[in-house]
Amino acid sequence: MKLWPIGVFTSIDAGLGVPLHVAKELGVDTIQIHAPKQESRSPLHVSKLLAQLNDTGIEATAVFGGFEGESYADIPTTAATVGLVPPGPRAARLEEMKRISDYARAIGCPVVALHLGYVPHDTSSADYRDIVQVTRDLCRYAANHGQNLHLETGQETAPDLVQFISDVGTNNLFVNFDPANMILYGQGDPIEALQILGSLVRSVHCKDAKWSSQPGITWGQEVPLGAGDVGMERYLMTLKQIGYEGSLTIEREIPQEPERQKAEIGHAVALLQQLSAKLLA
Ligand code: MG
Repeated sequence: MKLWPIGVFTSIDAGLGVPLHVAKELGVDTIQIHAPKQESRSPLHVSKLLAQLNDTGIEATAVFGGFEGESYADIPTTAATVGLVPPGPRAARLEEMKRISDYARAIGCPVVALHLGYVPHDTSSADYRDIVQVTRDLCRYAANHGQNLHLETGQETAPDLVQFISDVGTNNLFVNFDPANMILYGQGDPIEALQILGSLVRSVHCKDAKWSSQPGITWGQEVPLGAGDVGMERYLMTLKQIGYEGSLTIEREIPQEPERQKAEIGHAVALLQQLSAKLLA
């Protein structure tokens, strides 16, 4: 098996990723891009980005949607504001995700992704059925662009996510697995979750975290890769077991400290290269 490509989460003018020039300096193979603001999605911006990607040889593997009004301040605020789940902005956010799918097509990227939000647990409720319907609508729109939709993990347990994907019932809905989010949100052991999700996992984040003293009630703490409770070697070994062949996209969400962010991502690149060479030898 060949080595996994190494990637980093990037931002153009929105989101918590590193700028493109930092991705280039880090020497990564791939990037995921937080969808830029609408004014930065013009044909001119698109051709500028395509030229940058072409110059650096970096491939964009996913465009992540995010919305005005989202806040990750604490777990209840996240549940109330994030993704397509809050009913107030749901219709407008669905339209925005379709524009992000258009943007992904323009830059030649085959995947759009997002935090869907806290899906209600009562699968017989009208709200659950509506969220299934909205997700199906978005999946069909993306399918017309030849794209898959990836749901970022964190807000659901793995079995709930499997059930939800099955209820949506399209063949282009998959998972962007973030092991640290399972810990931060208190939604279950990341390795067990990865084994349950298996072939549904089509992209991953490499991020690390420590459990909260009250999992599911207060946030755990995000820490540099290798310093948390994920267990990076076990994580990569499990990715190998489930046959994962996509990129290892590093996420370190401290954009307020850009020098530290870059240095820690540099260490993460080295750690992943070392571990994957060992496991895939
Ligand atoms: Mg993530």
